[in-house]
Formats: sequence, C-alpha cells, structure tokens
Amino acid sequence: MVKLKLFFNKENEVDIIGLNNKSTVQDFFDAVDEFLTENPLPCDTCKQHCCKGRFKINMDSVSAKKLSKGKVERIIPKLFVDVGQNKLEVFMIAGHKKCRYLDGLARCLVYKERPASCRTYICIPQSACYKILDAAIVAEMHHAMRAEYLDTIIKDPATPPGAIEPAKILRQEVISASVAYGCNNYSEILIKDCVRSDFAHSNVSQEEVRLFHEIIN
Ligand code: SF4
Ligand code: SF4
Repeated sequence: MVKLKLFFNKENEVDIIGLNNKSTVQDFFDAVDEFLTENPLPCDTCKQHCCKGRFKINMDSVSAKKLSKGKVERIIPKLFVDVGQNKLEVFMIAGHKKCRYLDGLARCLVYKERPASCRTYICIPQSACYKILDAAIVAEMHHAMRAEYLDTIIKDPATPPGAIEPAKILRQEVISASVAYGCNNYSEILIKDCVRSDFAHSNVSQEEVRLFHEIIN
C-alpha cells in the first residue's frame, strides 16, 4: 500500500499522495512531520512566530487527554477562554497572548502531544486537498473537545441543576456529529470519516470537496 506522503506539486503547493479509505489522522500527522523534517521551516528566526498569539488555536480531545494524563477535567478550566456568547466554540491555547506551552526560547514544551491545529499548520501554500484535510480534521477534533467539555460540566457538582439537562442535550447533539469523541489516539480516527459529504470550508469549493471524496473512496 502506498504510504501517505506530502510533496510540492507543480504549483509549488504542499500536496498529498497515498491517501486511501484506510488512512488515519495519525498517518497524516506522520506525513506532515516527515515533510517538515525534509523541508524545515525557519521557525528559529521567524519574526511572525505563530505560537505567539496571532491565531486562535483549538485544543483537541486526544491532545488534552495526553497532556492531562487522562484527566481532561483538570485542564479544561485552564483551556477555557470566555468569549461571551460563543463560549463553547473556542478552546484556545493561544490567542490573546503567546501560547501557554511556549517556552522562553520559543520552543514548544508539549511538541509530541501538541494539538491537531499545531500539527497540521504549515505556513507555505497548500493544495486544496491539504486544506480540506486540515480543516476537516481540526473541526472533528474540536467537536470531540466540545463533548469532553460538556461531560465535565455535567459531572461538576458546582453546575446549577437547571444547566445540566440543556448540557446533556447539547452533548448528545455534538457526539452524534463527532467521529473523534471517545478516541484516545489519532490512529483510531479515519480521515474518510472526518471529511463528510456536507463538509464546507471557506477556502475550498464544493467541486474540490467532491474530487477529494473521489480520491479517498
Ligand atoms: S511555522 Fe512558519 S510562521 Fe510559524 S514560527 Fe515557523 S516559520 Fe514562523
Ligand atoms: S502547543 Fe506548541 S506548537 Fe502549539 S501553539 Fe503552543 S507552543 Fe506552539
């Protein structure tokens, strides 16, 4: 079987070969790591350091489980950023300031366990296929993290009784739309399940999504 691999296409974009219906999210992360080893980015000298807060970076459930050694509820309060009306949408580890996991020498303290958003970020032009995969995986991991957050709310004795039932209903909605909830490793998650037929992302067209499904199925 052809291994999932990244390469520069003729438009000089990062592109993907070797995708199939058994490819997992871990396969994609491994391919990104291999590509970045072969084509290192100038992070050491970069003035726009992307871990210093120019972006919102979602935590994901697999990374959160690993970072907390299985006790996600312990780190959820630290990850949660109150953004007013939209509280559930953002589990940021960077945004207002630099990421809490960045050390004084601009190194990631949790590199091996960093979340999906960090693993797939490449600051060079990407093919539509890469963009679809990146956005779909990050979105799925975020769904799963929302469900973990709701689990914590439901179990927390400090949660007002009136808030529990709505949280349970929302949790059920989130779980029914999540392929990553309950997974402990990225190798348990198939890429084809992350990229759904109704998936839409502002940077890719429906035609590109259709072509992607043809490749992967
Ligand atoms: S990934 Fe790109 S933007 Fe981020 S620190 Fe490295 S070179 Fe800079
Ligand atoms: S977790 Fe690591 S790679 Fe991700 S933003 Fe923080 S320091 Fe950067």
